[in-house]
Amino acid sequence: MARKTDAEGEALVTIPKGEWRSPARRRVAAIRDKLRTVYGIPIMPPHEQPLDELVLTVLSQSTNDRNRDIAYERLRERFDGWQAVMEAPNAAVEEAIRPGGISKVKSKRIQEILRAIDATPEGSGLDLSFLRDASVPEGQRYLCALPGVGRKTAACVLLFAYGLRDVPVDTHVSRVGMRLRLLRPGAPFEELHDEMLDLSPRGQELEFHVNLLRHGRRTCHARRPDCAICVLRRICPSRRG
Ligand code: SF4
Repeated sequence: MARKTDAEGEALVTIPKGEWRSPARRRVAAIRDKLRTVYGIPIMPPHEQPLDELVLTVLSQSTNDRNRDIAYERLRERFDGWQAVMEAPNAAVEEAIRPGGISKVKSKRIQEILRAIDATPEGSGLDLSFLRDASVPEGQRYLCALPGVGRKTAACVLLFAYGLRDVPVDTHVSRVGMRLRLLRPGAPFEELHDEMLDLSPRGQELEFHVNLLRHGRRTCHARRPDCAICVLRRICPSRRG
């Protein structure tokens, strides 16, 4: 195990791959159950709108949920569907999503993604419904080949739109997962997604993701985790105090 510090001087632990042991199923189940006592079981049926999810995820980059949602609503109000967004002048898309931040980058990215989807035989006419019946690896391959789309965005689309077995690992989930040693501290992004997929209880991928995310936002903060009140403190190797 190696220790470095981040920009704020907080200790960063990394564990080399050769020394890493994946967590036991029983431990994963115990964490799931404890999180459930605090956050319940989220009810979020698949919404079957993969393009909406894809655009929303692009808009969520480097901003908070509120600004993301404002940008998304403005986009939906100003354009009559995704085809219209794809064909609009970039300046009009950029202006619509400005409250979401880095709008130059995001507007370009959204239009590039829409054009790339439209140009593929599977997604022509901006129809991504084939993902529902494709295998998860096929869906991941297709989505990750789109401009600027990575594993996290692909997992959001597959899980939230169609309830498929994929799990997004964002900054909160990776932080909490590493502190709990569910995920290997210091692992690269791709490995984190593979590990999370492997350990998530089958059929409870959404619950596990959402509750780890909630825990990261409400208790296991980046700078000052609130270990004193944490429901996981007894089984967390990173607890403080
Ligand atoms: S005990 Fe502390 S570090 Fe561990 S999960 Fe809870 S808040 Fe995070």
